Amino acid sequence: MTPAQQSLVDEIRSRFGKRTVSTDARDIEPWLTDWRGRWTGKAGAIFQPSSTEEVAAIVTSATRLGVALVPQGGNTSMVGGATPPDDGSALILSLRRMNRIRLIDKAAMRVEAEAGAVLQNLHEAVAAQGLRFPLTLGAKGSATIGGLISTNAGGTQVLRFGPMRALVDGVEAVLPDGTIHDGLSGLKKDNRGYSIDQLLIGAEGTLGIVTAARLKLVPAIHSRAVAWLGLASPQAALDTLRALEAETDRIEGFEILPDESLQAVLSHIPGTRPPLQSHHPWHALVEATADGPGTDNPAELLARLLAPLVERGLVADASISASEAQAEAFWRIRDSLSEAERATFGPATQHDISVPVDAMPAFMVDAAAKVEQAFPGASATGFGHLGDGNIHFHVRAGLRGGTDWLQREGPAVTRLVHDLVTAAGGSISAEHGIGVMKKEELERLSPDRVRVLRAIKISLDPTAVMNPGKLV
Ligand SMILES: Cc1cc2nc3c(=O)[nH]c(=O)nc-3n(C[C@H](O)[C@H](O)[C@H](O)COP(=O)(O)OP(=O)(O)OC[C@H]3O[C@@H](n4cnc5c(N)ncnc54)[C@H](O)[C@@H]3O)c2cc1C
Repeated sequence: MTPAQQSLVDEIRSRFGKRTVSTDARDIEPWLTDWRGRWTGKAGAIFQPSSTEEVAAIVTSATRLGVALVPQGGNTSMVGGATPPDDGSALILSLRRMNRIRLIDKAAMRVEAEAGAVLQNLHEAVAAQGLRFPLTLGAKGSATIGGLISTNAGGTQVLRFGPMRALVDGVEAVLPDGTIHDGLSGLKKDNRGYSIDQLLIGAEGTLGIVTAARLKLVPAIHSRAVAWLGLASPQAALDTLRALEAETDRIEGFEILPDESLQAVLSHIPGTRPPLQSHHPWHALVEATADGPGTDNPAELLARLLAPLVERGLVADASISASEAQAEAFWRIRDSLSEAERATFGPATQHDISVPVDAMPAFMVDAAAKVEQAFPGASATGFGHLGDGNIHFHVRAGLRGGTDWLQREGPAVTRLVHDLVTAAGGSISAEHGIGVMKKEELERLSPDRVRVLRAIKISLDPTAVMNPGKLV
């Protein structure tokens, strides 16, 4: 550790004791590598505060001493956002001990939780009160509220409820100068200039430390049904979604996948079965829900709305879950896609991208063709949240393979995909953030945006102690 880092550790240890800061390699080591094992950093200490006041003390001293901090929640970032730099120049600030659900206000349909609360625990706590926090994703057993806010996470229910930004009603945070920003008042209207809460959402820990949040809740799901659709093309999938949305507001999820991805799941994931007897080039999974016994039965709703679409030939075939177990089985196929793809197709560059929803079907087809033309032998395809205009676009090595393919051609492939996304008016990061992974690409493709982000960053964090090397 540098002398300044050592001073910070000593100061915090003498004020708050050993639990709040550790220099023991056994406590630090598990948090030095990102979830996918792509980046590994070094840190001489990990802070584990248990209150907002402790966070404020750590940040105040860190800024005074010029010690950089890497905020960390569940460490599930897909872009290396929570990994410390590899030169040991920053210390980790983990929020995991701050995991209390402070209050559930049933009347206001709000929950106030500390930043380190794990998403799944929050789901369970509000479900016990007959309520639901309607954001969910594959990492829910580890991802924390602070991390989800800082990445403006999306997930599978964005179609109806929006991403984290739409679900946060207020943020409590410690700003780089140690000030505590308290946005938890629950004010419905507040026009005192820029929204500091919104500035912190998606900031990836570069503007301050989120310590707690007030989140919106919705009624618990009374029942749900999931339909599996066989389709001719991504355009048919989008037309189907639009036709459903014209009739109901109860569609919560709409995920698209190509047949080769389905086949990869069926051959690699034990216990999965084909949802349809017939074969189709594309598939979609549709979820409809009901909040209470008075609302339409979701299976009947889907059957009624899909029947004319099958008759018209827009939907080639459909199967509607007859039980919760079958609904789960359909979702399991979707949730196993990444794992099955890796096992079947080997190395692939993966791109979390968005374009305007109506442009997505054409983009999926055109971009795949252009990438395959530029890299003969590789194959490209997309799957995911079509209804949000967000897919995970994968380019697989195919015939160009070899263990070093990702290093050899990955950057050039990614640049081409990002160029195509930018030309289509899209975003190179739909839901995972920028982190270290996309920083250079953001700068290359969106210099004007980066200039504004940097101006905000410098004005709030002039000594650059907050998550250096990430985002800007
Ligand atoms: C299996 C899997 C599935 C996923 N699926 C999705 C998906 O469908 N949709 C989606 O949007 N994302 C998805 N993700 C990525 C998602 O962004 C992260 O899971 C989550 O948002 C990060 O939460 P975390 O607590 O793990 O944060 P971390 O990974 O620890 O941190 C993420 C970023 O936030 C910062 N940060 C963390 N806590 C704080 C805090 N309290 N204050 C300030 N900054 C903080 C970190 O510095 C870092 O920049 C998935 C990840 C995995 C591993």
